[in-house]
Amino acid sequence: MIMRFPGGLKKALTLSYDDGVEQDEQLIPILDAHGVRGTFNISSGLYCPEGRVYEPGRIHRPMTFARAKALYDTSRHEVAVHCLTHANLPELPTSMVVGEVMRDRENLEREFGGVIRGMAYPFGAYNSAVVQALSDCGIAYSRTVHSTHAFDFPENWLMLHPTCHHADPQLFALCDRFLADEARFSSKLFYLWGHSYEFESDDNWQVIRDFCEKMGGRDDIWYATNIEIVDYVNAYRSLRASADGRKLHNPTAMRIWAQDNQGVFDIGPGETIER
Ligand SMILES: [Zn+2]
Repeated sequence: MIMRFPGGLKKALTLSYDDGVEQDEQLIPILDAHGVRGTFNISSGLYCPEGRVYEPGRIHRPMTFARAKALYDTSRHEVAVHCLTHANLPELPTSMVVGEVMRDRENLEREFGGVIRGMAYPFGAYNSAVVQALSDCGIAYSRTVHSTHAFDFPENWLMLHPTCHHADPQLFALCDRFLADEARFSSKLFYLWGHSYEFESDDNWQVIRDFCEKMGGRDDIWYATNIEIVDYVNAYRSLRASADGRKLHNPTAMRIWAQDNQGVFDIGPGETIER
């Protein structure tokens, strides 16, 4: 038996963009036009103060809170933790790591609503003490900056390595490999990451337009936010099977899809089925 995504799909696509910068206002309509979805990681202690004008030529321009609120609240994307002050976590005592994460969580939950359990590491930096602290802070996953050039799921969601950055020279070769993959023995995830201000500094907005054109709007890919994928895979992993493997119980609140040699099937929340 292997995991399938909602609707029995074999592939999923997600992305995340960090820092809550003004260029996200240009990025989100491009994603939306192709049905691509993802996650925006925000340091809630670093909003631009209302009334501040950036000096000409400045590329990294965090939004004011009002601007961020207007953008993300109306979007179909996830807002997630990027630590209160974008701190380099491995340098901090654990109590300060906890403060960076919990204060950002608290702010973002108050500002954007919901229970926020996602994160991306500032500077991509982490160590085992940081990972342990995140787990204690109720963080469900945290994205690193290590490109895998692969489409697999992590064993530990607190070390969620993306497939690649959007400026990776192999980006479109990886897209081709992903689209051609038949995902016969396991489902596949394409995970793209970056900062939208890089499209401005590198003058390459065309890259994300081409990416969405190629990878978006397809009926064989599940387009989801980071937390939707994490929650779904965790739900699949919590299925209970009888000793002979014929009975399956879904103890979660989600409908779960899977495939065996008889084909694709699904199990409703709380349901037990026999194969
Ligand atoms: Zn960042």
